[in-house]
Amino acid sequence: MKTIIIGAGAIGMMQARELAQAGVEVTLIDKGLCGQEASWAGGGIVSPLYPWRYSEPVTALAAWSQGYYGNLAESLEAESGVDPELTRHGLLMLSIEDQSAALEWASAHNNWAELVEKDAIYKLEPNLREGVGDALWMPQVGSIRNPRLMQALYKSIMSEPLVSIIEESAVSGLVIHADKVTGVKLKDKVINADNVVVTAGAWSGGLLESVGVSLPIEPVRGQMILFNAKPGVVNRVVLNDGKYVIPRRDGRVLAGSTLEYVGFDKQTTEQAKQQLADTAIDMFPVLAEAQIEHHWAGLRPGAPEGVPFIGAVPGIENLYVNSGHFRNGLVLAPAAVRVMTALLLGEVSPLDPTPYELQYRVKQIEVA
Ligand SMILES: Cc1cc2nc3c(=O)[nH]c(=O)nc-3n(C[C@H](O)[C@H](O)[C@H](O)COP(=O)(O)OP(=O)(O)OC[C@H]3O[C@@H](n4cnc5c(N)ncnc54)[C@H](O)[C@@H]3O)c2cc1C
Repeated sequence: MKTIIIGAGAIGMMQARELAQAGVEVTLIDKGLCGQEASWAGGGIVSPLYPWRYSEPVTALAAWSQGYYGNLAESLEAESGVDPELTRHGLLMLSIEDQSAALEWASAHNNWAELVEKDAIYKLEPNLREGVGDALWMPQVGSIRNPRLMQALYKSIMSEPLVSIIEESAVSGLVIHADKVTGVKLKDKVINADNVVVTAGAWSGGLLESVGVSLPIEPVRGQMILFNAKPGVVNRVVLNDGKYVIPRRDGRVLAGSTLEYVGFDKQTTEQAKQQLADTAIDMFPVLAEAQIEHHWAGLRPGAPEGVPFIGAVPGIENLYVNSGHFRNGLVLAPAAVRVMTALLLGEVSPLDPTPYELQYRVKQIEVA
């Protein structure tokens, strides 16, 4: 079986790796270089923010992936020589208004969150601003360093004989014969395959529109800054009022992120930079002494309620989508990829695939 995967972000690269490891011949195509879009730009928190506010389908994917990430990080390091720096430093959430909903959710999900008070909070984060009374603490949550995860995935699939990678070559259309996809169009050629999987992140909707399917995935810009801080300044992922700081192993601290509906515009803005810096410094006043060494933006693939689309495209045989992971593409990726692999190979899925199916969630539209 030969499969084309369109889009080499976290989803596309993990999908390629997993299919190849199962013996499938894969051609992975990206319009740019592999792993340079949302999957590079993200924060890498291996948990949804405020996880109790998500629906069960998102929680199910996240929980499966969280159980698998340790193994994935180790295997990737062995395959690629790059440590993706999965670090289980925990997630501390301040100013939670819906605490009882959070604790109720936690008791139904292996007590993943607990309430902590002043002394425990400042033991966890000595540099946190004064005056924090209580917080929710999720000790098992980790984060992964996106650029390193992208490098590890890239090197891993580069060394996989069943994967061919085509970079800097946009797929401009799908080849359809008798309601069946048979390949993809590039600028100067057509490549044929038995299956095509669209993992083109925020751009997935455009590809499907060309074959008469309206997939409600839209770009949602997220800006982020990086402080060149010293190790120990921030030790955990800390979340306050929708904004967070994430420590990396070398001491650097990411602060994010904005949520902007501005189309396919990846420009950064001075206003967002200032706002992100102010919020981070408000949480950790000592960050005022660190330099902001980088500021960037990425386009999340926004889907309704953050529930990704994973499955066959109705009405077009052999065409599949794994996209729309919105704010949680890194944490959801391993499970989403496994659900898709099971579907492609006719295996039993580790999770009920029904909530992610496209069938009732996309519309047929006229092709121009
Ligand atoms: C600021 C920010 C913070 C985030 N923080 C987190 C977090 O802490 N935890 C978490 O789990 N998630 C986080 N996310 C979300 C996560 O990054 C995304 O959900 C995830 O990266 C989506 O992966 P993807 O592979 O679908 O998309 P992408 O990484 O965007 O990859 C899609 C790929 O498809 C390619 N492509 C598009 N069109 C075509 C075409 N026509 N032909 C060929 N190739 C094409 C693109 O070039 C791109 O490489 C964050 C995102 C942002 C922006």
